[in-house]
Amino acid sequence: MLRVTLLASALAISAAAQPADLLLVNGNIHTLDAAQPRATAIAVRGDRIVFVGDAAGAEQFRAGAKRVIDLHGATVVPGLNDAHMHLEGVGERELSFDLEGTKSVTDLQAKVAARVASAPAKKWIVGRGWIETHWPEKRFPARQDLDAVAPQHPVVLVRADGHALVANSLALRLGGVTRDTPAPSGGEILHDAQGEPTGMLIDQAMTLAMRLVPPSTPEEVEQFLVVGAAREARLGWTGVQNAGNSFEDSERLRRLIADGRVKIRVYDSLSGADGSGVKLLAAGPVIGESAGRFTRRGVKLYIDGALGSRGAALLAPYADYPQSSGLLMQEEAKLMPFLTDALRQGIQIQTHAIGDRGNRSVLDWYEKALAAVPVAERGVAQPRWRIEHAQIIHPTDIPRFAQLGVIASMQPSHAIGDLFFAPSRLGKDRLACAYAWQSLLKSGAVIASGSDAPVERGEPMIEFYAAVARRSLDGFANEDWHLEQRMTREQALRAMTLDAAFATFEEKQRGSIEVGKWADFTVLSADILKIPEPEILKTRCLYTIVGGEVVHEAK
Ligand SMILES: [Zn+2]
Repeated sequence: MLRVTLLASALAISAAAQPADLLLVNGNIHTLDAAQPRATAIAVRGDRIVFVGDAAGAEQFRAGAKRVIDLHGATVVPGLNDAHMHLEGVGERELSFDLEGTKSVTDLQAKVAARVASAPAKKWIVGRGWIETHWPEKRFPARQDLDAVAPQHPVVLVRADGHALVANSLALRLGGVTRDTPAPSGGEILHDAQGEPTGMLIDQAMTLAMRLVPPSTPEEVEQFLVVGAAREARLGWTGVQNAGNSFEDSERLRRLIADGRVKIRVYDSLSGADGSGVKLLAAGPVIGESAGRFTRRGVKLYIDGALGSRGAALLAPYADYPQSSGLLMQEEAKLMPFLTDALRQGIQIQTHAIGDRGNRSVLDWYEKALAAVPVAERGVAQPRWRIEHAQIIHPTDIPRFAQLGVIASMQPSHAIGDLFFAPSRLGKDRLACAYAWQSLLKSGAVIASGSDAPVERGEPMIEFYAAVARRSLDGFANEDWHLEQRMTREQALRAMTLDAAFATFEEKQRGSIEVGKWADFTVLSADILKIPEPEILKTRCLYTIVGGEVVHEAK
Protein backbone atom coordinates (compact mmCIF):
# COMPACT_ATOMS: atom_id res chain seq x y z
CA MET A 1 0.00 0.00 0.00
CA LEU A 2 2.79 2.32 0.96
CA ARG A 3 4.60 1.41 -2.26
CA VAL A 4 1.56 2.28 -4.38
CA THR A 5 1.23 5.73 -2.79
CA LEU A 6 4.85 6.59 -3.47
CA LEU A 7 4.52 5.52 -7.06
CA ALA A 8 1.38 7.58 -7.51
CA SER A 9 2.96 10.77 -6.17
CA ALA A 10 6.05 10.23 -8.32
CA LEU A 11 3.80 10.01 -11.35
CA ALA A 12 2.01 13.20 -10.36
CA ILE A 13 5.30 15.11 -10.25
CA SER A 14 6.54 13.85 -13.59
CA ALA A 15 3.21 14.65 -15.24
CA ALA A 16 3.53 18.28 -14.18
CA ALA A 17 6.30 20.49 -15.52
CA GLN A 18 9.64 20.31 -13.76
CA PRO A 19 10.05 22.76 -10.89
CA ALA A 20 11.46 26.18 -11.68
CA ASP A 21 14.88 27.35 -10.53
CA LEU A 22 13.32 30.73 -10.00
CA LEU A 23 9.64 31.63 -9.87
CA LEU A 24 8.41 35.23 -9.79
CA VAL A 25 4.77 35.63 -8.71
CA ASN A 26 2.37 38.52 -8.01
CA GLY A 27 4.26 40.78 -10.40
CA ASN A 28 3.04 43.65 -12.56
CA ILE A 29 4.95 42.49 -15.60
CA HIS A 30 5.47 44.47 -18.82
CA THR A 31 6.86 41.94 -21.29
CA LEU A 32 7.30 44.03 -24.48
CA ASP A 33 6.04 40.90 -26.24
CA ALA A 34 3.20 42.01 -28.52
CA ALA A 35 1.57 38.57 -28.30
CA GLN A 36 1.29 38.78 -24.51
CA PRO A 37 2.10 42.28 -23.27
CA ARG A 38 1.13 41.79 -19.61
CA ALA A 39 1.64 38.95 -17.11
CA THR A 40 1.86 38.35 -13.35
CA ALA A 41 4.23 35.37 -13.14
CA ILE A 42 7.47 34.15 -14.72
CA ALA A 43 9.21 30.78 -14.34
CA VAL A 44 12.93 30.40 -15.05
CA ARG A 45 15.00 27.27 -15.49
CA GLY A 46 18.75 27.63 -15.86
CA ASP A 47 19.31 30.99 -17.53
CA ARG A 48 16.14 30.89 -19.64
CA ILE A 49 12.52 31.90 -19.30
CA VAL A 50 10.28 28.79 -19.45
CA PHE A 51 6.93 30.35 -18.60
CA VAL A 52 5.25 33.76 -18.75
CA GLY A 53 1.63 34.02 -17.63
CA ASP A 54 -0.66 34.17 -14.61
CA ALA A 55 -0.71 32.69 -11.09
CA ALA A 56 -2.72 29.62 -12.06
CA GLY A 57 -0.35 28.74 -14.88
CA ALA A 58 2.69 29.29 -12.64
CA GLU A 59 1.51 26.73 -10.05
CA GLN A 60 2.90 23.79 -12.03
CA PHE A 61 6.43 25.22 -11.52
CA ARG A 62 6.12 25.88 -7.78
CA ALA A 63 6.54 22.47 -6.10
CA GLY A 64 10.27 21.97 -5.59
CA ALA A 65 11.21 25.38 -7.03
CA LYS A 66 14.64 26.49 -5.82
CA ARG A 67 13.45 30.01 -5.13
CA VAL A 68 10.06 31.70 -5.24
CA ILE A 69 9.91 35.50 -5.03
CA ASP A 70 6.57 37.06 -4.16
CA LEU A 71 6.78 40.48 -5.79
CA HIS A 72 3.73 41.91 -3.96
CA GLY A 73 2.69 43.81 -7.06
CA ALA A 74 6.11 45.25 -7.93
CA THR A 75 6.73 46.08 -11.58
CA VAL A 76 8.92 43.88 -13.78
CA VAL A 77 10.38 45.08 -17.07
CA PRO A 78 12.83 43.34 -19.42
CA GLY A 79 16.40 43.68 -18.09
CA LEU A 80 17.52 47.27 -18.65
CA ASN A 81 20.48 47.63 -20.98
CA ASP A 82 22.62 50.79 -21.11
CA ALA A 83 23.51 51.19 -24.79
CA HIS A 84 26.43 53.60 -24.26
CA MET A 85 28.54 53.94 -21.15
CA HIS A 86 32.11 53.62 -19.86
CA LEU A 87 32.37 50.93 -17.21
CA GLU A 88 35.88 51.63 -16.00
CA GLY A 89 35.05 55.33 -15.65
CA VAL A 90 31.94 54.51 -13.62
CA GLY A 91 33.97 52.39 -11.22
CA GLU A 92 36.70 55.00 -11.03
CA ARG A 93 34.09 57.60 -10.13
CA GLU A 94 32.76 55.34 -7.37
CA LEU A 95 36.20 54.77 -5.89
CA SER A 96 37.90 58.08 -6.45
CA PHE A 97 37.15 61.61 -5.48
CA ASP A 98 33.55 61.98 -6.60
CA LEU A 99 32.41 65.58 -6.90
CA GLU A 100 28.95 64.85 -8.25
CA GLY A 101 26.33 66.92 -6.46
CA THR A 102 28.77 69.67 -5.41
CA LYS A 103 26.54 72.67 -4.63
CA SER A 104 28.87 75.68 -4.79
CA VAL A 105 32.48 76.84 -4.90
CA THR A 106 32.42 76.80 -1.09
CA ASP A 107 31.16 73.22 -1.09
CA LEU A 108 33.90 72.28 -3.56
CA GLN A 109 36.50 73.82 -1.24
CA ALA A 110 35.15 71.88 1.74
CA LYS A 111 35.38 68.60 -0.18
CA VAL A 112 38.95 69.30 -1.29
CA ALA A 113 39.95 70.29 2.24
CA ALA A 114 38.60 67.00 3.61
CA ARG A 115 40.42 65.03 0.93
CA VAL A 116 43.71 66.83 1.48
CA ALA A 117 43.56 66.19 5.24
CA SER A 118 43.92 62.41 4.67
CA ALA A 119 46.33 62.50 1.70
CA PRO A 120 50.13 62.23 2.05
CA ALA A 121 52.01 65.42 1.14
CA LYS A 122 52.50 66.05 -2.59
CA LYS A 123 50.06 63.30 -3.60
CA TRP A 124 47.96 64.27 -6.62
CA ILE A 125 44.34 64.96 -5.74
CA VAL A 126 42.22 64.08 -8.77
CA GLY A 127 38.46 64.49 -8.68
CA ARG A 128 35.63 64.47 -11.13
CA GLY A 129 31.99 65.36 -11.43
CA TRP A 130 31.45 69.03 -10.50
CA ILE A 131 29.25 71.24 -12.64
CA GLU A 132 28.80 74.93 -11.92
CA THR A 133 25.59 75.66 -13.84
CA HIS A 134 23.43 75.93 -10.70
CA TRP A 135 26.03 77.30 -8.29
CA PRO A 136 25.17 80.52 -6.43
CA GLU A 137 28.59 82.02 -7.31
CA LYS A 138 27.66 81.86 -11.04
CA ARG A 139 31.25 81.26 -12.17
CA PHE A 140 33.83 78.56 -12.82
CA PRO A 141 36.02 77.60 -9.86
CA ALA A 142 39.52 79.14 -10.00
CA ARG A 143 42.98 78.04 -8.90
CA GLN A 144 42.87 80.48 -5.94
CA ASP A 145 39.78 78.69 -4.57
CA LEU A 146 41.80 75.46 -4.48
CA ASP A 147 45.05 77.05 -3.28
CA ALA A 148 43.24 78.29 -0.19
CA VAL A 149 42.50 74.71 0.94
CA ALA A 150 45.28 72.77 -0.82
CA PRO A 151 48.55 74.70 -0.97
CA GLN A 152 50.83 71.59 -0.75
CA HIS A 153 49.08 69.08 -3.02
CA PRO A 154 48.64 69.29 -6.79
CA VAL A 155 44.87 69.30 -7.44
CA VAL A 156 42.96 68.71 -10.68
CA LEU A 157 39.17 68.51 -10.65
CA VAL A 158 37.49 67.47 -13.89
CA ARG A 159 34.09 68.90 -14.80
CA ALA A 160 31.22 66.39 -15.08
CA ASP A 161 31.31 66.42 -18.90
CA GLY A 162 34.99 65.49 -18.99
CA HIS A 163 35.75 68.45 -21.28
CA ALA A 164 37.27 70.87 -18.75
CA LEU A 165 39.11 70.88 -15.45
CA VAL A 166 40.22 73.29 -12.78
CA ALA A 167 43.78 72.96 -11.45
CA ASN A 168 45.39 74.64 -8.45
CA SER A 169 48.54 76.74 -8.76
CA LEU A 170 50.85 73.85 -7.83
CA ALA A 171 49.38 71.57 -10.51
CA LEU A 172 49.69 74.37 -13.07
CA ARG A 173 53.32 74.97 -12.08
CA LEU A 174 54.20 71.26 -12.28
CA GLY A 175 52.46 71.15 -15.66
CA GLY A 176 54.47 74.13 -16.86
CA VAL A 177 51.44 76.36 -17.40
CA THR A 178 52.31 80.08 -17.12
CA ARG A 179 50.71 83.25 -18.48
CA ASP A 180 52.75 82.77 -21.67
CA THR A 181 51.91 79.10 -22.33
CA PRO A 182 50.17 78.75 -25.70
CA ALA A 183 47.05 76.56 -25.71
CA PRO A 184 47.53 73.29 -27.60
CA SER A 185 45.36 72.93 -30.69
CA GLY A 186 41.84 71.85 -29.77
CA GLY A 187 42.26 73.31 -26.29
CA GLU A 188 41.98 76.53 -24.35
CA ILE A 189 43.68 78.00 -21.27
CA LEU A 190 41.40 80.53 -19.56
CA HIS A 191 43.02 83.76 -18.30
CA ASP A 192 41.90 86.39 -15.80
CA ALA A 193 41.84 90.16 -16.35
CA GLN A 194 45.55 90.36 -15.48
CA GLY A 195 46.40 87.70 -18.09
CA GLU A 196 47.20 85.00 -15.52
CA PRO A 197 45.79 81.45 -15.98
CA THR A 198 42.59 81.05 -13.92
CA GLY A 199 43.22 77.32 -13.49
CA MET A 200 40.52 76.34 -16.00
CA LEU A 201 41.86 74.16 -18.82
CA ILE A 202 39.51 73.19 -21.66
CA ASP A 203 39.60 70.03 -23.83
CA GLN A 204 43.11 69.36 -25.20
CA ALA A 205 44.63 71.83 -22.71
CA MET A 206 43.60 69.45 -19.92
CA THR A 207 46.55 67.22 -20.81
CA LEU A 208 48.95 69.97 -19.61
CA ALA A 209 47.95 69.12 -16.04
CA MET A 210 46.73 65.54 -16.45
CA ARG A 211 49.86 64.09 -18.07
CA LEU A 212 51.65 64.15 -14.69
CA VAL A 213 48.96 62.23 -12.83
CA PRO A 214 50.21 58.66 -12.30
CA PRO A 215 48.18 56.22 -14.45
CA SER A 216 45.98 53.56 -12.83
CA THR A 217 47.69 50.23 -12.15
CA PRO A 218 46.23 47.01 -13.65
CA GLU A 219 44.93 46.08 -10.17
CA GLU A 220 43.18 49.42 -9.89
CA VAL A 221 41.61 48.99 -13.32
CA GLU A 222 40.22 45.59 -12.25
CA GLN A 223 38.82 47.13 -9.12
CA PHE A 224 37.16 49.90 -11.15
CA LEU A 225 35.52 47.33 -13.42
CA VAL A 226 34.26 45.17 -10.54
CA VAL A 227 32.96 48.11 -8.52
CA GLY A 228 31.49 49.77 -11.61
CA ALA A 229 29.61 46.62 -12.60
CA ALA A 230 28.26 46.16 -9.07
CA ARG A 231 27.02 49.74 -9.09
CA GLU A 232 25.28 49.19 -12.43
CA ALA A 233 23.57 46.06 -11.08
CA ARG A 234 22.36 47.98 -8.01
CA LEU A 235 20.67 50.51 -10.26
CA GLY A 236 18.90 47.86 -12.32
CA TRP A 237 21.11 47.59 -15.38
CA THR A 238 21.34 43.93 -16.40
CA GLY A 239 23.68 44.75 -19.26
CA VAL A 240 25.89 47.56 -20.50
CA GLN A 241 27.47 48.47 -23.82
CA ASN A 242 30.96 49.63 -22.99
CA ALA A 243 32.00 52.31 -25.49
CA GLY A 244 35.67 52.46 -26.41
CA ASN A 245 37.79 50.07 -24.37
CA SER A 246 41.46 49.22 -24.91
CA PHE A 247 42.30 45.67 -25.98
CA GLU A 248 44.17 45.02 -22.70
CA ASP A 249 41.35 46.25 -20.48
CA SER A 250 38.85 44.36 -22.57
CA GLU A 251 40.81 41.17 -21.87
CA ARG A 252 40.74 42.03 -18.14
CA LEU A 253 37.00 42.51 -18.29
CA ARG A 254 36.60 39.23 -20.16
CA ARG A 255 38.46 37.38 -17.39
CA LEU A 256 36.48 39.09 -14.62
CA ILE A 257 33.25 37.95 -16.29
CA ALA A 258 34.53 34.40 -16.80
CA ASP A 259 35.47 34.32 -13.09
CA GLY A 260 32.05 35.60 -12.04
CA ARG A 261 33.40 38.81 -10.50
CA VAL A 262 31.45 40.90 -13.00
CA LYS A 263 27.87 39.63 -13.18
CA ILE A 264 26.13 41.89 -15.69
CA ARG A 265 26.31 41.37 -19.45
CA VAL A 266 28.89 43.48 -21.26
CA TYR A 267 29.03 44.27 -24.95
CA ASP A 268 32.50 45.70 -25.47
CA SER A 269 33.74 47.98 -28.23
CA LEU A 270 37.38 48.92 -28.69
CA SER A 271 38.82 52.36 -29.40
CA GLY A 272 40.09 53.73 -32.62
CA ALA A 273 40.97 52.87 -36.20
CA ASP A 274 44.65 52.88 -35.28
CA GLY A 275 45.12 51.19 -31.87
CA SER A 276 42.86 48.63 -30.24
CA GLY A 277 40.33 48.68 -33.09
CA VAL A 278 42.98 47.29 -35.44
CA LYS A 279 43.71 44.48 -32.98
CA LEU A 280 40.03 43.57 -32.96
CA LEU A 281 39.95 43.37 -36.77
CA ALA A 282 42.96 41.07 -36.66
CA ALA A 283 41.72 38.89 -33.79
CA GLY A 284 38.07 38.76 -34.88
CA PRO A 285 35.00 39.18 -32.69
CA VAL A 286 34.18 37.32 -29.45
CA ILE A 287 30.46 36.57 -29.32
CA GLY A 288 28.37 35.34 -26.39
CA GLU A 289 31.18 34.03 -24.18
CA SER A 290 30.50 33.13 -20.50
CA ALA A 291 26.88 32.15 -21.19
CA GLY A 292 26.23 35.30 -23.17
CA ARG A 293 27.72 37.70 -20.66
CA PHE A 294 30.68 38.85 -22.75
CA THR A 295 30.71 39.96 -26.36
CA ARG A 296 33.36 42.02 -28.12
CA ARG A 297 32.54 43.00 -31.66
CA GLY A 298 32.49 46.80 -31.93
CA VAL A 299 34.94 49.58 -32.71
CA LYS A 300 34.35 53.07 -31.36
CA LEU A 301 35.43 56.00 -33.52
CA TYR A 302 35.14 59.77 -33.09
CA ILE A 303 34.33 62.20 -35.85
CA ASP A 304 33.88 65.38 -33.82
CA GLY A 305 33.83 66.80 -30.29
CA ALA A 306 31.10 68.08 -27.99
CA LEU A 307 28.59 70.90 -28.35
CA GLY A 308 29.36 72.55 -25.01
CA SER A 309 33.01 73.15 -25.89
CA ARG A 310 32.09 73.97 -29.54
CA GLY A 311 33.96 70.93 -30.82
CA ALA A 312 30.91 69.48 -32.60
CA ALA A 313 31.23 69.78 -36.40
CA LEU A 314 28.37 71.89 -37.79
CA LEU A 315 27.25 72.56 -41.37
CA ALA A 316 26.97 76.31 -40.57
CA PRO A 317 28.92 78.35 -37.99
CA TYR A 318 28.07 78.42 -34.29
CA ALA A 319 25.37 80.97 -33.51
CA ASP A 320 27.40 82.26 -30.55
CA TYR A 321 30.85 81.96 -32.21
CA PRO A 322 30.51 82.72 -35.93
CA GLN A 323 34.22 82.28 -36.63
CA SER A 324 33.93 78.52 -36.12
CA SER A 325 31.78 75.59 -37.20
CA GLY A 326 33.83 72.96 -35.37
CA LEU A 327 36.20 70.39 -36.80
CA LEU A 328 36.10 66.88 -38.26
CA MET A 329 38.61 64.59 -36.55
CA GLN A 330 38.75 61.96 -39.32
CA GLU A 331 39.56 61.96 -43.02
CA GLU A 332 37.41 59.90 -45.34
CA ALA A 333 40.28 58.57 -47.49
CA LYS A 334 42.20 57.40 -44.40
CA LEU A 335 39.23 55.79 -42.73
CA MET A 336 37.58 54.04 -45.69
CA PRO A 337 39.87 50.96 -45.83
CA PHE A 338 39.24 50.39 -42.12
CA LEU A 339 35.47 50.64 -42.62
CA THR A 340 35.41 48.19 -45.51
CA ASP A 341 37.65 45.76 -43.57
CA ALA A 342 35.29 45.96 -40.60
CA LEU A 343 32.34 45.17 -42.88
CA ARG A 344 34.10 42.06 -44.17
CA GLN A 345 34.93 40.94 -40.62
CA GLY A 346 31.42 41.52 -39.24
CA ILE A 347 32.71 44.19 -36.85
CA GLN A 348 30.22 46.83 -35.79
CA ILE A 349 31.32 50.44 -36.17
CA GLN A 350 30.10 52.94 -33.55
CA THR A 351 31.03 56.51 -34.39
CA HIS A 352 30.66 59.43 -32.01
CA ALA A 353 28.96 62.25 -33.97
CA ILE A 354 27.37 65.31 -32.36
CA GLY A 355 27.08 68.07 -34.98
CA ASP A 356 25.00 67.99 -38.17
CA ARG A 357 28.17 67.99 -40.30
CA GLY A 358 29.62 65.18 -38.19
CA ASN A 359 26.45 63.13 -38.56
CA ARG A 360 26.17 63.77 -42.31
CA SER A 361 29.80 62.78 -42.88
CA VAL A 362 29.40 59.53 -40.95
CA LEU A 363 26.23 58.66 -42.88
CA ASP A 364 28.02 59.46 -46.16
CA TRP A 365 31.03 57.29 -45.26
CA TYR A 366 28.91 54.41 -43.99
CA GLU A 367 26.92 54.58 -47.23
CA LYS A 368 30.09 54.45 -49.34
CA ALA A 369 31.54 51.54 -47.36
CA LEU A 370 28.26 49.61 -47.67
CA ALA A 371 28.22 50.23 -51.42
CA ALA A 372 31.84 49.05 -51.72
CA VAL A 373 31.32 45.67 -50.02
CA PRO A 374 28.56 43.49 -51.49
CA VAL A 375 26.33 41.64 -49.02
CA ALA A 376 27.88 38.28 -49.93
CA GLU A 377 31.33 39.54 -48.86
CA ARG A 378 30.23 40.95 -45.50
CA GLY A 379 30.74 39.21 -42.17
CA VAL A 380 27.13 40.14 -41.35
CA ALA A 381 24.62 40.97 -44.07
CA GLN A 382 23.02 43.80 -42.07
CA PRO A 383 25.93 45.19 -40.07
CA ARG A 384 23.85 47.46 -37.79
CA TRP A 385 26.43 50.20 -37.65
CA ARG A 386 25.69 52.95 -35.20
CA ILE A 387 26.09 56.64 -34.65
CA GLU A 388 26.77 57.43 -31.00
CA HIS A 389 24.93 60.53 -29.70
CA ALA A 390 23.43 61.61 -33.08
CA GLN A 391 22.53 64.89 -31.41
CA ILE A 392 22.12 67.44 -34.20
CA ILE A 393 20.94 66.11 -37.56
CA HIS A 394 20.04 68.09 -40.65
CA PRO A 395 16.37 67.38 -41.59
CA THR A 396 17.35 65.80 -44.90
CA ASP A 397 19.63 63.34 -43.10
CA ILE A 398 17.02 62.03 -40.65
CA PRO A 399 15.47 59.48 -43.06
CA ARG A 400 18.92 58.16 -43.96
CA PHE A 401 19.28 56.34 -40.63
CA ALA A 402 16.40 53.99 -41.49
CA GLN A 403 17.36 53.80 -45.16
CA LEU A 404 20.93 52.74 -44.39
CA GLY A 405 20.02 50.62 -41.36
CA VAL A 406 22.11 52.87 -39.09
CA ILE A 407 21.16 52.77 -35.40
CA ALA A 408 20.88 56.05 -33.50
CA SER A 409 22.53 55.41 -30.13
CA MET A 410 21.28 58.35 -28.05
CA GLN A 411 21.39 59.48 -24.43
CA PRO A 412 18.21 61.14 -23.19
CA SER A 413 19.97 62.79 -20.25
CA HIS A 414 22.28 64.67 -22.64
CA ALA A 415 19.26 66.47 -24.05
CA ILE A 416 18.00 67.69 -20.70
CA GLY A 417 21.50 68.88 -19.77
CA ASP A 418 22.44 70.39 -23.14
CA LEU A 419 19.15 72.15 -23.81
CA PHE A 420 20.18 74.82 -21.30
CA PHE A 421 22.98 75.97 -23.63
CA ALA A 422 22.14 74.41 -27.03
CA PRO A 423 19.88 77.35 -28.05
CA SER A 424 22.80 79.80 -27.80
CA ARG A 425 25.21 77.47 -29.64
CA LEU A 426 22.79 76.54 -32.44
CA GLY A 427 20.17 79.31 -32.70
CA LYS A 428 16.46 78.55 -32.81
CA ASP A 429 16.19 76.96 -36.27
CA ARG A 430 18.63 74.14 -35.77
CA LEU A 431 17.04 73.14 -32.46
CA ALA A 432 14.09 71.55 -34.27
CA CYS A 433 16.39 68.70 -35.33
CA ALA A 434 18.41 68.41 -32.13
CA TYR A 435 17.90 65.32 -29.94
CA ALA A 436 15.14 64.55 -32.45
CA TRP A 437 13.85 61.30 -30.99
CA GLN A 438 10.33 61.44 -32.40
CA SER A 439 11.47 62.50 -35.89
CA LEU A 440 13.92 59.61 -35.98
CA LEU A 441 11.37 57.07 -34.70
CA LYS A 442 8.73 58.27 -37.19
CA SER A 443 11.27 57.86 -40.01
CA GLY A 444 11.65 54.20 -39.01
CA ALA A 445 15.04 54.51 -37.31
CA VAL A 446 15.96 52.35 -34.34
CA ILE A 447 17.01 54.30 -31.23
CA ALA A 448 19.08 52.47 -28.63
CA SER A 449 19.28 54.58 -25.52
CA GLY A 450 22.07 54.84 -23.01
CA SER A 451 23.45 57.11 -20.35
CA ASP A 452 27.07 57.89 -21.31
CA ALA A 453 28.00 57.41 -17.64
CA PRO A 454 30.20 58.73 -16.08
CA VAL A 455 29.65 61.79 -18.31
CA GLU A 456 26.09 61.64 -16.96
CA ARG A 457 24.94 60.04 -13.72
CA GLY A 458 24.07 56.75 -15.44
CA GLU A 459 20.84 56.05 -13.59
CA PRO A 460 18.16 54.26 -15.59
CA MET A 461 15.32 56.23 -14.02
CA ILE A 462 16.97 59.52 -15.00
CA GLU A 463 17.31 58.28 -18.59
CA PHE A 464 13.71 57.06 -18.72
CA TYR A 465 12.43 60.33 -17.21
CA ALA A 466 14.54 62.43 -19.61
CA ALA A 467 13.18 60.49 -22.59
CA VAL A 468 9.51 60.82 -21.64
CA ALA A 469 9.49 64.22 -19.91
CA ARG A 470 12.30 66.01 -21.80
CA ARG A 471 12.44 68.40 -18.86
CA SER A 472 15.20 69.12 -16.38
CA LEU A 473 15.10 67.05 -13.21
CA ASP A 474 13.16 69.84 -11.49
CA GLY A 475 10.62 70.02 -14.32
CA PHE A 476 11.88 72.96 -16.41
CA ALA A 477 11.38 73.22 -20.18
CA ASN A 478 10.51 76.00 -22.63
CA GLU A 479 9.65 76.14 -26.32
CA ASP A 480 13.32 75.69 -27.24
CA TRP A 481 13.24 72.21 -25.74
CA HIS A 482 10.80 70.91 -28.39
CA LEU A 483 8.61 68.75 -26.20
CA GLU A 484 7.05 67.26 -29.34
CA GLN A 485 10.27 65.21 -29.66
CA ARG A 486 9.85 63.39 -26.35
CA MET A 487 9.23 59.64 -26.40
CA THR A 488 6.15 57.79 -25.22
CA ARG A 489 6.68 55.57 -22.18
CA GLU A 490 6.60 52.45 -24.37
CA GLN A 491 9.12 53.91 -26.82
CA ALA A 492 11.45 54.91 -23.99
CA LEU A 493 11.31 51.46 -22.41
CA ARG A 494 11.85 49.77 -25.75
CA ALA A 495 14.93 51.93 -26.45
CA MET A 496 16.46 50.69 -23.14
CA THR A 497 15.60 47.04 -23.70
CA LEU A 498 14.51 45.51 -27.00
CA ASP A 499 16.12 48.11 -29.25
CA ALA A 500 19.25 48.25 -27.09
CA ALA A 501 19.41 44.46 -27.66
CA PHE A 502 18.93 44.97 -31.40
CA ALA A 503 21.96 47.27 -31.31
CA THR A 504 24.07 44.29 -30.17
CA PHE A 505 22.45 41.66 -32.45
CA GLU A 506 20.73 40.08 -29.44
CA GLU A 507 17.04 40.89 -29.85
CA LYS A 508 16.27 37.16 -30.14
CA GLN A 509 18.03 36.47 -26.80
CA ARG A 510 16.93 39.38 -24.65
CA GLY A 511 15.10 42.70 -24.54
CA SER A 512 11.62 41.28 -23.91
CA ILE A 513 10.13 38.74 -21.53
CA GLU A 514 9.32 35.71 -23.66
CA VAL A 515 9.72 31.95 -23.27
CA GLY A 516 13.14 30.88 -24.57
CA LYS A 517 14.89 34.21 -23.95
CA TRP A 518 17.51 34.88 -21.28
CA ALA A 519 15.96 35.46 -17.86
CA ASP A 520 17.04 39.11 -17.53
CA PHE A 521 14.67 41.28 -15.50
CA THR A 522 14.63 44.56 -13.68
CA VAL A 523 12.13 44.74 -10.81
CA LEU A 524 11.02 48.28 -9.91
CA SER A 525 9.21 49.81 -6.94
CA ALA A 526 6.62 51.55 -9.16
CA ASP A 527 4.97 51.20 -12.55
CA ILE A 528 7.01 53.58 -14.70
CA LEU A 529 4.56 53.19 -17.57
CA LYS A 530 1.82 54.83 -15.48
CA ILE A 531 3.04 56.97 -12.59
CA PRO A 532 3.28 60.80 -12.82
CA GLU A 533 6.59 62.00 -14.29
CA PRO A 534 8.21 63.31 -11.09
CA GLU A 535 7.64 59.92 -9.41
CA ILE A 536 9.76 58.19 -12.05
CA LEU A 537 12.81 59.79 -10.43
CA LYS A 538 11.85 58.31 -7.04
CA THR A 539 11.44 54.78 -8.42
CA ARG A 540 13.94 52.29 -7.00
CA CYS A 541 15.33 49.02 -8.27
CA LEU A 542 14.24 46.09 -6.05
CA TYR A 543 15.87 43.19 -7.90
CA THR A 544 18.27 42.87 -10.80
CA ILE A 545 18.21 39.43 -12.38
CA VAL A 546 20.68 38.31 -15.06
CA GLY A 547 20.28 34.90 -16.68
CA GLY A 548 18.08 33.77 -13.80
CA GLU A 549 20.66 34.84 -11.21
CA VAL A 550 19.65 37.50 -8.68
CA VAL A 551 22.65 39.84 -8.90
CA HIS A 552 21.12 42.60 -6.81
CA GLU A 553 18.42 42.57 -4.19
CA ALA A 554 17.36 45.74 -2.33
CA LYS A 555 17.52 45.42 1.42
ZN1 LIG B 1 30.68 58.12 -24.21
